[in-house]
This record gives sequence, C-alpha cells and structure tokens, in this order.
Amino acid sequence: MRVSSLFMPTQREVPADAEIISHQLMLRAGLMRKVASGFYSFLPMGYRAFRKVENIVREEMDRAGAQELIMPAVLPAEVYMASGRWEKFGPDMFRLQDRSGRSFCLGPTHEEPFTETVRDNVRSYRQLPVTLYQIQHKYRDEKRPRFGVMRAREFVMKDAYSFDADEKGLDQSYQAMYQAYCRIFDRCGLDYILVHADSGAMGGSGSQEFMVKSDVGEDAIAYCPACGYAANEEKAPCPAVRGFDGEAGTVEKVHTPNFRTIEELMAFLGLPPTAFAKTLLYDIDGKIVAVMLRGDREVNEIKLKNLFDANEAVLAGSADVERVTGAAVGFAGPVGLAEPIPVVADSEIAGMGNFVIGANETDYHFLNINVGRDFTPTRIADIRCAVEGDPCPSCGKPLSMCRGIEVGHIFKLGTKYSEALGCNFLNSDGEEKPMIMGCYGIGVGRTLAAIVEQHYDKDGIIWPMAVAPYSVIIVPTNSTDETINATASELHDRLTEAGIEVLLDDRDERPGVKFKDADLIGIPIRITVGRKAPEGIVEYKLRSDGNVVEKTPEEAVAEVLREIGRI
Ligand code: ATP
Ligand code: MG
Repeated sequence: MRVSSLFMPTQREVPADAEIISHQLMLRAGLMRKVASGFYSFLPMGYRAFRKVENIVREEMDRAGAQELIMPAVLPAEVYMASGRWEKFGPDMFRLQDRSGRSFCLGPTHEEPFTETVRDNVRSYRQLPVTLYQIQHKYRDEKRPRFGVMRAREFVMKDAYSFDADEKGLDQSYQAMYQAYCRIFDRCGLDYILVHADSGAMGGSGSQEFMVKSDVGEDAIAYCPACGYAANEEKAPCPAVRGFDGEAGTVEKVHTPNFRTIEELMAFLGLPPTAFAKTLLYDIDGKIVAVMLRGDREVNEIKLKNLFDANEAVLAGSADVERVTGAAVGFAGPVGLAEPIPVVADSEIAGMGNFVIGANETDYHFLNINVGRDFTPTRIADIRCAVEGDPCPSCGKPLSMCRGIEVGHIFKLGTKYSEALGCNFLNSDGEEKPMIMGCYGIGVGRTLAAIVEQHYDKDGIIWPMAVAPYSVIIVPTNSTDETINATASELHDRLTEAGIEVLLDDRDERPGVKFKDADLIGIPIRITVGRKAPEGIVEYKLRSDGNVVEKTPEEAVAEVLREIGRI
C-alpha cells in the first residue's frame, strides 16, 4: 500500500477533549473519528488494527469450541421483560419504537436472546454443553462516555454464553473461556491481572475480571505480587486486628483551636495521625450514622453501603453534623454526642489504644480514649479501603495497589436466566431441569485502546506485531532519486508477495516528516532507503527500539520474515 493513496488523516495537535494517551494517539494517528459523544468511526488504519484484535478473539473462541453466530442489535422489549431487565437497565438502555408503536431496544448485552435461542432449540442433555458467541455492536447510554472507545455508547463486544447440564459442566465451560481469554490478552501483548469480582448482584457463583494495569483505569485494584491474589479495592478485605492490650491512660480534654487538618492537629499534639480516630457522619439512606476510622484511613463507601444493605451512603451535610454533635464541623467523636446515633467503628479501631477523638465541642479533643472503657461502638466492621502494604487475604504478604481497565469479564451465571426464561432440558433420568449458564464478554474497541495505553512513547504508538495495522513501513528519503525509488519499490513488492502487510511512504515529503508519521502510527518495522541505496544498503529499525542496522535489501527481507515469525 502506498502512503500517498492511504486515507490516514493524522493530526499534529493533541485534540482538546482527549484526556488519556490512547484516546489522544488514536485520534492523532488518524485511527478513528468522533461522530458524537461516545460514538466513533474507525478509519482504515484503525479498523485494520481493530480487525486484528477481533480476529484474535474469534480464533481463540473457535479454538475453545465456542460457535459464532450473529443476532440483531435491535431487540423487542418482551425479550428483556421476562428477566426484569427492561426496567433494571433504566436510562442506560437505548429504547425505540417501530411505526406501529411496538417497543424495542438496542441490545446492551444479550443474555436474554441467547437464552431464548437455546431454550427453543435444545431439549435434551445429549445436546449439551453448548457455547455460542457473537462479535457485535452493543449500545449503552453511559452516564459518562469518555476516553474515546474505552467507554463508548456504541461499542463492539464479543459476548459468549455457555449452557451446561450441571455445575461440573459449567466449571469446564468456564475454564475453557478462562484459558481462551488468557491467550487472547497474551497475544494482544497486554500486561493484565485477573481480579476476583463480586458476583452477588448477578446471583452467580463465580466471576473474574481481566484488568489491564493502567494509571488511567477506572478501577482501583489491590493485588499480591507474591501469590497473584487480586481484588477490586472495594472487595479487598482489610485484616481484622487484635484488641488493644496496653495500659489505658487517663482521659484528658484538650483545647485544640484553629486546626484545619488532622496533620496540623497531630503536629500540635506531637502525635502521628495513626494515634487519631476520626469520626465522619454519614447519611445512609436518610439515617445519620457516625463512622470511625484511623486518622490516616479512607472510608470505603461500597463496604459501608453493603454493611447497611443501603442504596446510598453520602457524607452528612453541615447542618446535620452540627445538630448531632452539638459542635462545629470537625469535632465529631463517639463520646458525648448531642443526639444518640449508631456508631460504626472500622475493625482497626479495636486494635488501637489511648487514641485521640473529637470531643463534640468546638475546638476540643479528648486524649487517651479506649474502646470498651470510654465508648462501645454499635458495630465493628471492615469499612476502610485497602492500602499498599496491607496483608494479602490469601497469603499474608504485603499487597500492592494499582489501577486497571476492565477488558474482559467471565461469569458463572448459574440458573438466573434459564429459570426466568424457562430454558430447561431433560436430564438422563427424564427430569426437566434449568440449564446452568455462564457469560463471557470482551470489549474489542476497549481492548484496542488498552493496547495503545500500554504501548507508546513520546513519538506515538508502538503496535505489538500481532495487532499492527501494517507490519512494515518503507521510507525512501528522496522521492526524486531513481535508485532510491527503485530499491524501495522492489522491497515493497517482494514483501507484499511474501504476504507481509507493508506500507511504502512514497509521498514527496522530507524524511523527517515521514519518520514522524511512521513513529506516530506505530508500524513495528521501518526500512529506510536512502543515500546508500546505490551501494545496496538500507536501514532496518524496529519501532520499539532506537537501533538502526544497515542491511542489504535481501537481509532486510529475511529479517522481516524472521521478526514476524515466518522463519
Ligand atoms: P464497566 O464496569 O467498565 O462499565 P461492565 O461491567 O459494564 O464494564 P460488561 O457488561 O461485563 O462490562 O461488558 C463486557 C465487556 O465489554 C467489558 O469487560 C468491557 O471490555 C466492554 N465494555 C463494557 N462497557 C463498555 C463501554 N461503554 N465502552 C467500551 N467497552 C465496554
Ligand atoms: Mg458498565
């Protein structure tokens, strides 16, 4: 392919609304174009890379024994009503009506239509197991579409669904998908971790998320480099601690005026923030609750919500704080509250002794407070966020924290959908049983963006070979020089004949401009044909390193084939 005829609208400037590297680079490299918030076109270069990812996904699904089909994106409301998700999806679901007023939606995920398809066509245990998948557009009216195709409103998902006769079968189907996912993300060159996810809400028995480590990820993950344990921050349990068994000091009330932060207060008292128990007042579904935790800790609002089985847990407003404590904001504590409210202490508080608390009196704190002697919490529970260095709940070694992008999700659904939709089969004893299901999703566009997020430098994208839109770019430095042009064309033709995807930058541009574009679009191998062409010498360079090696055109071709793994 000649670059002069390539539709590749690269941009020099960083687009203003692109916050993260992958979004910026995908726009700058001319891979995609925004049509509206959360809706993107893939342009030719981007679509080539996209299809590479899609094909890796397809190959691995097929290898694992899953069978591809395709369903409509527009689905009648009734399909989602039987499971209750027509209501449950709420504003996330794109809804429409046909000319006679019948309701439809744009499918956000396809558990229901797959379950119906299998229900209507599979009767006997002899026809099980079966795993079906599609690679298709999904529609979700996301609250905050952002980061380009990372969180879009229309996106391509590979969604697979397994149907088994028993739990053992589900385990095997799940395992096959697990292995396929590992192969997919390995082939895409991604550094990922597997995170245990909470399956409670979906009613299943197990669930894992494939997370790509990235500073821009929306999920905080606690993981153990020693044993491989990983969990979403809100799901990572924090260790219980032993009770304080030191000598309790005498309670003292101290005047602590004009301190804005715990750090300032602690500096004044000559104590570390770990000697302080802060009390935050929360409004939990309309009820005010005091929440205590060590001075340097953060409340995990998801754990707090789960503890109360509540819909919402937000910090109480200052009017509530002042009424309940009888003091200005900043002096709340569990002792001497003006109004009796429940006090929930983080489990760590039980292991502290002689600590400092707010005195429920403006500008005063108490010193030497001890649980049991001075106050008794209504509940002691794990309500804090895990932090770097906490012991791993699996092996006890220190946990690390990172941020991650969820690229894939595998899920043991059990019988939730098969029961709701009557997807039954006859077992070997002739009894009717619901099928045991699993579902397995991968975002193709998000995976592509995650690859860019992990493979770039200051000059642009560095595509892993397996997903690169083209493998090689040939750059003649002077397009008016006949020998240079002839050598470059010959190289292009030879590589093309060998089945290599190759670009020839035949534009009448300075070499610097061509090099900049080649770096920006991230083609893995660059062959420069320049001054030494008459001597039969070209320059061979990988995008991933700075080394330029002189070779004959024959050697360059051999090296390309070797690099691509043909030899
Ligand atoms: P998230 O928590 O990021 O919204 P999700 O839990 O809603 O993801 P699933 O319903 O499990 O995602 O969808 C399966 C896969 O589809 C995800 O792992 C992700 O790769 C992809 N995906 C989900 N939502 C989007 C989106 N808005 N844009 C692009 N890809 C998405
Ligand atoms: Mg989502």
